[in-house]
Amino acid sequence: MIDMDSVSWNRSMLKAFFGIKSQKSGLGGYTMAGLLSGLEQFGLSNLENMDLYEAPKKEEAGPGGKAPATVQEQDFLFDKSFNCPICDKEFKARTVKIGKAKLAGSDLDLRPRYEQIDLLKYDIILCPYCGYAALSRFFKFVTSPQAKNIKKTISATFKPQKEVKEVYTYDEALERYKLTLANAIVKQTRSSEKAYICLKTAWLLRGKAEHLDKNLPDYEEQKKQCEDEENEFLRNALEGFLAARQTESFPMCGMDEPTVDYLIAVTAMRFEQYDVSSRLITGILQSPTANPRMKDKARDVKEMLMKKIKEKNAARK
Ligand SMILES: [Zn+2]
Repeated sequence: MIDMDSVSWNRSMLKAFFGIKSQKSGLGGYTMAGLLSGLEQFGLSNLENMDLYEAPKKEEAGPGGKAPATVQEQDFLFDKSFNCPICDKEFKARTVKIGKAKLAGSDLDLRPRYEQIDLLKYDIILCPYCGYAALSRFFKFVTSPQAKNIKKTISATFKPQKEVKEVYTYDEALERYKLTLANAIVKQTRSSEKAYICLKTAWLLRGKAEHLDKNLPDYEEQKKQCEDEENEFLRNALEGFLAARQTESFPMCGMDEPTVDYLIAVTAMRFEQYDVSSRLITGILQSPTANPRMKDKARDVKEMLMKKIKEKNAARK
């Protein structure tokens, strides 16, 4: 299997997403300049010289173009109260009403598509006072060393957000995911959590591309940019899940082993890592725990894989 620790993954992730070159800071670590370049609005631009990787731990204790805002989108949302585990303040966040949105289908890599609303935009909970942000399923789980790191590195310079939005544009949602990724790196959380943030960010970018206005003069350019960014996030989700698979136990981010293996297999296939993909698909088909639906999906992927491998071999001749 691919051997990769969370540190090297962090580095490749930062470089890939935010254009950070392999330059080292004076302290021998990597800087956050590129990562936070889009986060000036949160008051975090002064974190540029922070060294994130000086003492990375193998594992922490905790588990770890604008789309038009339609009127209908608000009907799926309400304000829910949360208590921040970092600053202990209470705040309200836009939250999706359970059961209201209708599932329209899902992509090959399990990205859910809903009618009228992209629920992914609302899966980040962000404390407007201290800047702590997490995917909703991880929001409550913070260890005290992690809280200390967030206070020191994020909250100290975070600009409190006063404006409460009724709905988020894709770009606003992407900023929330970026801040969540920054939080995840600062709290040195598990690879699976970071991989899951990457996966969902990739899905969000896919949604953004689908909702771009085709009449925009730079439509093609924007679409290409979304696709490139989506690929970078997917590549890093793949690396993170591969690393997590070797060091963590299941369920992972609420997913059982066959589901995670399926996700890895589909994503690996996208990047022509056919050997990784084939091995995992075979594992799912032989698994006593994989449910029949998952096995059906795996069989479909196996067919696609065989076709792609054949094409690749034919091209070589
Ligand atoms: Zn807070």
